[in-house]
Amino acid sequence: MQQLTCPVDQTDLIDSKTSGEESSKCPTCEGVWLTTHAMESLEDNSASDDMVKGQRQYGKHPVDHACPHCNEQMIRFRYRGFNLEIEACPTDAGFWLDEKEDRDIRDVMKQRGSNLSRSASAEKSWHKARRGEKVGIFQRVKQLFGFN
Ligand SMILES: [Zn+2]
Ligand SMILES: [Zn+2]
Repeated sequence: MQQLTCPVDQTDLIDSKTSGEESSKCPTCEGVWLTTHAMESLEDNSASDDMVKGQRQYGKHPVDHACPHCNEQMIRFRYRGFNLEIEACPTDAGFWLDEKEDRDIRDVMKQRGSNLSRSASAEKSWHKARRGEKVGIFQRVKQLFGFN
């Protein structure tokens, strides 16, 4: 298997685990590379769920980072409408989450989590708002970033 390098600082990535899925982590900047397969497993997604997949990317634009997988310019986008931008391989081989992005999604999840625990009705309205999307995805994303 080819040695993957960090798109930001070119450090060799090391094998890591993200909620049981294989990932590669940069020991310098703590960014994480997840293959598309790993990401989809974490999202509890299925190949047939095209609607959910189609919602993953908003506001795509290229950035000056070389993909660890193919060395092409990575694409930055807003993840599922959250206030969180991550980068992806232009040929969909995988995703790059830098340390700041990791922190940002933790904030998003924390906020959402405290809202949920505050009242059952908040939880109901959340599920209502997410109707049509698998509830499992949100749980998986939380797990992905260490929130259970
Ligand atoms: Zn790095
Ligand atoms: Zn690539």
